[in-house]
Amino acid sequence: MSQNPLQKYFRQPKLTVPLPSKGLFAPPDAISGDPSNLEVYAMTGMDEIILKTPDSLFTGESTVRVIQSCCPGIKDAWHVSAIDLDHILMSIRIATYGNLMTVEHTCGNCGTENEYDIDLRPLIDHFDRSEYKNSVQVHELTIKIRPLFYQEMTKFNLENFKIQKRLMAAAQDFDNAENQKIINDSYREIADLQNDMFLKSIESVTAPDTIVTDQKFIEEWVKNSEADLFDGIRKLIEDNKKAWKIPSVGVQCSNCGTPAELEITMDQANFFVKKS
Ligand SMILES: [Zn+2]
Repeated sequence: MSQNPLQKYFRQPKLTVPLPSKGLFAPPDAISGDPSNLEVYAMTGMDEIILKTPDSLFTGESTVRVIQSCCPGIKDAWHVSAIDLDHILMSIRIATYGNLMTVEHTCGNCGTENEYDIDLRPLIDHFDRSEYKNSVQVHELTIKIRPLFYQEMTKFNLENFKIQKRLMAAAQDFDNAENQKIINDSYREIADLQNDMFLKSIESVTAPDTIVTDQKFIEEWVKNSEADLFDGIRKLIEDNKKAWKIPSVGVQCSNCGTPAELEITMDQANFFVKKS
């Protein structure tokens, strides 16, 4: 095929960003090029349409397509690390609509509906300073963990949503014996799901004489360990979650001056709509 004469009008990269994970956890083919200089393009009209399709948002499909469209260095966005996800989505938002994002907040004191223009740059810079701690020592053992992939996160969220929905429906009629069984089963399923997520986060266990990566062995070991082991790993996972959360932004009501902390979420429904 001959070269398209319109090629020089194609979109150009708007910014380059470092991936917080440095691509360390991704499978070999998921990222191409330099993970510390990832090119980010603005969304195309097609990308915007994809993001406005609610069903595909829910399964993660549209997020994956848009990430791969705007960050060509990411070949397989299903394997984006949890610690890279917000960073990537914010970068795409900045590349498309600029640094500012309008966030609405109703004052808890006087009820005034305020609109704030939040600068996303400092929030992104926060990730560049965050550290992912990936190992913990419990007695003789060193446990290494990894952030979940987007695919795993999406799967867990979907499963969790389904169970919660069933649980809520059954809780409407608590006296029904059949519903009580559904409720009990649902709680057990939620616990199983959380355990499953916990196990997926464990990459390896190093003992003085061996290193184990087999998930089956690790699962068996976790089930036969004392609580302090579980707590040690859980604390590490929780600490990372806190370190990698988008920082809240302090604002003041325009009418009465009452301060508030804005939580910036990556709920795509809000995040990818340009408010002006
Ligand atoms: Zn107020």
